[in-house]
Amino acid sequence: MASYLGFHNTTLPHDLSGSSSLYSSVNFDDLNWAEQKWAEWYMFIGNPVLATGIMSFVMHEIVYFGRCLPLVIIDRIPYFNRWKLQPGKVPTAREQWECTKLVLLSHFTVELPQIWGFHPMAEYFGMSTHSVPFPALTTIAWQVAIFFVFEDTFHYFAHRWLHTPMMYKHIHKLHHKFSAPFGLAAEYAHPVEVLILGTGTIGGPLLFAILSQTIWPQVSLHIVTVYIWIIFRLFQAVEAHSGYDFPWGTRHWLPFWSGAEHHDFHHMAFVNNFSTSFRWWDHWLGTDLKYQAYRKRIEASKASERAKIEAAENLTIEASGLAAERALLARSGESKPKNVRVGEVVAPDGHESAPTNLLKVNAESKKSR
Ligand SMILES: [Zn+2]
Ligand SMILES: [Zn+2]
Repeated sequence: MASYLGFHNTTLPHDLSGSSSLYSSVNFDDLNWAEQKWAEWYMFIGNPVLATGIMSFVMHEIVYFGRCLPLVIIDRIPYFNRWKLQPGKVPTAREQWECTKLVLLSHFTVELPQIWGFHPMAEYFGMSTHSVPFPALTTIAWQVAIFFVFEDTFHYFAHRWLHTPMMYKHIHKLHHKFSAPFGLAAEYAHPVEVLILGTGTIGGPLLFAILSQTIWPQVSLHIVTVYIWIIFRLFQAVEAHSGYDFPWGTRHWLPFWSGAEHHDFHHMAFVNNFSTSFRWWDHWLGTDLKYQAYRKRIEASKASERAKIEAAENLTIEASGLAAERALLARSGESKPKNVRVGEVVAPDGHESAPTNLLKVNAESKKSR
């Protein structure tokens, strides 16, 4: 194993010596705190596949729900409603719980096997896994930037595919259940959608690892870089679905960042804004025209009337979004959507009534803006 890892001149600290052959050639005195803890974890578990599997799954759960928790709390504090993109359309506790249950089911059934298979796949494609030290921060930064660009491109085209009649009817409709999304809804999706869009997240690192093994041997990829990328990606997904455009949000200091303001419109309008992280593809391919016109109309309005105009715009846009969804489903052979939207009332016969809650909440929330 030592020769496989390529380490030499072993110096193990007393408490670690003899605990594992994984690091028999590593000088622990040369490692920083994080690298030592990394190595200690792999030695503690003793089986790299198991160690990576447990760490990946626990990290995913902690980061996803840890990032969602502040938003769940914020949803209960009226003060923050001034930054709500669809004001007043606050998810109920029941909606959040229903969403959490499906997300957890998906994590334990669909994502767990994928996460478990990640270590063997990573090693197969030549990624460094349990080895230490970690790459330099600059290396991690540019590699993560590449994964962001790759994922955004993959996601844009895959997402447009998910909006074709049959793909929408059978797969993507579930994710569009909430026309006013909230953090927990980021991974509220059909298992097949999780697989398709997950390819964009993990495909970048795997392709990069293949390149480093074949035509670009000067570079290598460590799994810790992939972890950092996935943490950023989870933060991005939850932020995009948060339903809030906070003044400290990423898009306010990174103008080409999509953020919640961009993706929330996708859920409200059903059309436009298919990307995840960046606004480029929607701009280049003209799939943000409706969104741009909507923003212009609101920005052109008088400050004193802006809240009223935005509320009216949101009603119109959401109504046209529902019509667009119906038209798409009609092309797939389905007569009407069966999803319940946040802030809408569905009669017992399944027919959607007017979005009375929306009218009420818009009027109430704008008072405090
Ligand atoms: Zn969509
Ligand atoms: Zn979404």
